[in-house]
Amino acid sequence: MSDLQGNLKKAEAYLARFKRDGVLNQIGGEAAPALDGTTFETLSPVDLKPLAKVARGGAVDIDRGAKAAKAAFPAWAAMPGEARKKLLHRIADAIETRAEEIAFVECMDTGQALKFMAKAALRGAENFRFFADRAPEARDGETLRTTGQVNMTTRVPIGPVGIITPWNTPFMLSTWKIAPALAAGCTVVHKPAEFSPLTARLLVEIAEEAGLPKGVWNLVNGLGEHAGKALTEHPDIKAIGFVGESRTGSMIMRQGADTLKRVHFELGGKNPVIVFADADLERAADAAVFMIYSLNGERCTSSSRLLVEASVYDEFTDLVAEKAKRIKIGHPLDPATVVGPLIHPVHEEKVLSYIEIGKSEGAVVAAGGGKFAGPGGGCYVSPTLFTGATNRMRIAQEEIFGPVLTAISFKDEAEALALANDTQYGLTGYLWTSDVTRAFRFTDALDAGMIWVNSENVRHLPTPFGGVKNSGIGRDGGDHSFDFYMETKNIAFATTAHAIQKLGG
Ligand code: NAD
Repeated sequence: MSDLQGNLKKAEAYLARFKRDGVLNQIGGEAAPALDGTTFETLSPVDLKPLAKVARGGAVDIDRGAKAAKAAFPAWAAMPGEARKKLLHRIADAIETRAEEIAFVECMDTGQALKFMAKAALRGAENFRFFADRAPEARDGETLRTTGQVNMTTRVPIGPVGIITPWNTPFMLSTWKIAPALAAGCTVVHKPAEFSPLTARLLVEIAEEAGLPKGVWNLVNGLGEHAGKALTEHPDIKAIGFVGESRTGSMIMRQGADTLKRVHFELGGKNPVIVFADADLERAADAAVFMIYSLNGERCTSSSRLLVEASVYDEFTDLVAEKAKRIKIGHPLDPATVVGPLIHPVHEEKVLSYIEIGKSEGAVVAAGGGKFAGPGGGCYVSPTLFTGATNRMRIAQEEIFGPVLTAISFKDEAEALALANDTQYGLTGYLWTSDVTRAFRFTDALDAGMIWVNSENVRHLPTPFGGVKNSGIGRDGGDHSFDFYMETKNIAFATTAHAIQKLGG
């Protein structure tokens, strides 16, 4: 039996419960269908067959979730940090135990290759461990002295929060947002993306089986414009942690205005990888290929604009094209697959339409350039490289969110910087040069929340994560996450019997 056939059998076993029972919400520790009994279907992008019927929650379900989170909040917030730490580590243990199930379900629901998803569950567990270890210190603040006064700051959890996640790498992203909220002492209502809801269900079950008290974490599935909108408008929800498209972020800001919602946004990107002639071109090409074609290019931090110094442009883009053509496209459960099918026919159509736009704008297809006939006949798109592009083209300005790379040449450092910054986004940047002074100068002027020099994106959890311009508001990671999920409070103590103005005599 080939690895693929063995994996397919296992996936079928893991998916059987979803086929049978559907994907229910989880409210106050109880599995529940949508109150009005409606559902929607989630498809496998491999063969477009339905995987499960999903509870189609609406405002009433969100209201129940928010009330459960509100009721669970006082006890959860009061639990000593050490106890929360132990519990979050137990969740991490349970994620590791079920890593294979999580990976297989994620592959079939999203089309992501097992090669990457096998590690996604472990990354999710690591997120829980990282924030678990910080839970005991989450409330710590600082002491600020002045004459006659000592000020003490402390942090308190903000209250029940709403977490809204996108369909790309949904398991990992959900852990990244929910673990710090729980570590801070907040309770949660999670609204996962409608295209890939399966592993969010596994995650909340795992957490409750590990001992998380009922109501601390509630799951409400549904459409963005219904369940998502209701969550952002709910008066008991104090903050919204959102990951998704920039224009959805704008909507959420408007929807949350009446209840003065605190928001944290991780949004879209059109991230440049800038390659100077003095770079190690082979390593730079490997990194550029990895950052655009891994995870099917459905990745906010993907390096989707390739800016290359003119003197090495042809050599470098040839290198990238060769590598792109050799990438194995296939079934997500085939261990050799690098690029699997895109999430959904709607998204596939969007990505393919951008490939046509690129052609009509006059860019040259140097690799890929269209649909791929993959196993199951699903949403496969060939890793594509456009050369001869300009930064004014739509393929250089708009987020395609697929395996499509747009290469543009520059003549000098000033032009490279101008091109890199000439976009509405500013999430990440990747710089390749052996000139350290230039690297300092360039990164200082580059509009991006996160920049890697001579490296692909290698995440170190304590570092700040987030974007500038239309790529986001706020930072995650380390203590930055606690700043969002907690309120800082200042308490001033008089240390002397200072003179108080006597206004009434
Ligand atoms: P999306 O904005 O369409 O949806 C994200 C979530 O928002 C979904 O759960 C959806 O149901 C919900 N939603 C939609 N409309 C809503 C509304 N009016 N009110 C409340 N919720 C609503 O994004 P997507 O297509 O699922 O994901 C892809 C996008 O996510 C890309 O733009 C990508 O760059 C971005 N992303 C960013 C990061 C980051 O860290 N910056 C990480 C991953 C993905």
